[in-house]
Amino acid sequence: MNVYDSWRIATMLEHRGMSRTDKVSEADIIILNTCAVRAKATDKVFSALGRIRRAKKPSALFGIVGCVARESGSNAFRRIPDLNFVLGPQSYHKLPQILDNPDAKLLNIDLGGLEKFDELPQMEKSPTVAYIPIQEGCDHVCTYCIVPYTRGREISRSFNDCVRDTIHAANTGAVEICFLGQNVNGYKYTDETGHLYKLSDLIREAAKIESVKRIRFTSSYPTEMTDDLIDMFATEPKLLPFLNMPIQSGSQNVLKRMNRPYALELYTDIIRKLRIARPDIQISSDFIVGFPGESDEDFEQTMQIAEQIKYINSYSFKYSPRPHTAAALMTDQIPENIKAKRLAKLDTYLNELQREFNIGCVNKTMQCLLEGPDKTGKHLIYRTPYMQQCIVEQTSDNAPAPILADICITAANKASLRGKFVK
Ligand code: SAH
Repeated sequence: MNVYDSWRIATMLEHRGMSRTDKVSEADIIILNTCAVRAKATDKVFSALGRIRRAKKPSALFGIVGCVARESGSNAFRRIPDLNFVLGPQSYHKLPQILDNPDAKLLNIDLGGLEKFDELPQMEKSPTVAYIPIQEGCDHVCTYCIVPYTRGREISRSFNDCVRDTIHAANTGAVEICFLGQNVNGYKYTDETGHLYKLSDLIREAAKIESVKRIRFTSSYPTEMTDDLIDMFATEPKLLPFLNMPIQSGSQNVLKRMNRPYALELYTDIIRKLRIARPDIQISSDFIVGFPGESDEDFEQTMQIAEQIKYINSYSFKYSPRPHTAAALMTDQIPENIKAKRLAKLDTYLNELQREFNIGCVNKTMQCLLEGPDKTGKHLIYRTPYMQQCIVEQTSDNAPAPILADICITAANKASLRGKFVK
């Protein structure tokens, strides 16, 4: 979502005649687009602001947008007095105001909803992978999560707007469409006639576009994985056989305290149905270890579910208490050293699962999407349908690299694959 927001911000400034630079010392405006999901991310923002302050031109404007802006509000000006702007995730379209009035301080952390989507200029050329936001905010209110506070209540964009943006992206270079939302599979839009549109309708519509070859969506909440969406994995070959469906914990007790009140059986049943619909599907998850009150036994249940589902490409985090969340006030917080130990154990296992899966891909041929050359320029980086990175030797004849290519995997380790073009 932040990558998408940053693209829109950059496009908006380009429309005002600005261009990008990688050098802080050359910039006229420096914008940090920020994430507040864990404390570490927030801390990094303030230390980066300190560095930027010293490195920038005296006349350059600098500020923060996104969730840390929303979370800190006017406190950000107290911490860094010469900061010029603080704009929340739903008000960054107000940024031009600071260009027009650089001496004022600009603060806006309103949860305005969908206004920004209409006010911002469209990107003229889409990247190969186009992120299409279809909903914002989240109504699930997991007790650890700051997102309902920073991004607000759940709200879905109109079906027509989502389709229009998808067609525009496809017409200007997108080959892969990634539908975005904090609770993306909860997408629900009812039009004037009372017709209800769901994520499965959007996928079907995107798949009709000839130049769109791959479709995915993120991030999903388990109980929103309804049968119509599961069926899409059986009937729509453009939908990638890969799904991130965070479980967070394998303990029913912890899930309950996280306010994720689904039964573990329901979660595993959804995965069973997905595997019937699409036998080659792979699942990834997010995990939180050391949630308040998590016992050794609870944690072992998380290890067990990881083993049972055999996740690939997963993310795991130590629980981080966040402002405006219920879990931060729970009295049975877990000591840092125990969190670290549990995370190390889970990470080691998840890496092992990833390595096994990667090695199992050797000698298989997969259709992969070009990401670009690597740093040396000697290799090309592709993405497999499972979002693995696959490194391919540049062809010697200097022919342009195909955007989509059948690649035979020749070697694998935990982090990436190597492959060669299938002639
Ligand atoms: N559905 C949300 C999740 C974003 S946060 C969205 O897409 O916006 C991504 C992951 O961060 C979550 O799945 C969870 O595993 C982790 N996370 C969220 N809050 C956390 C916290 N307080 N401490 C540690 N990890 C957290």
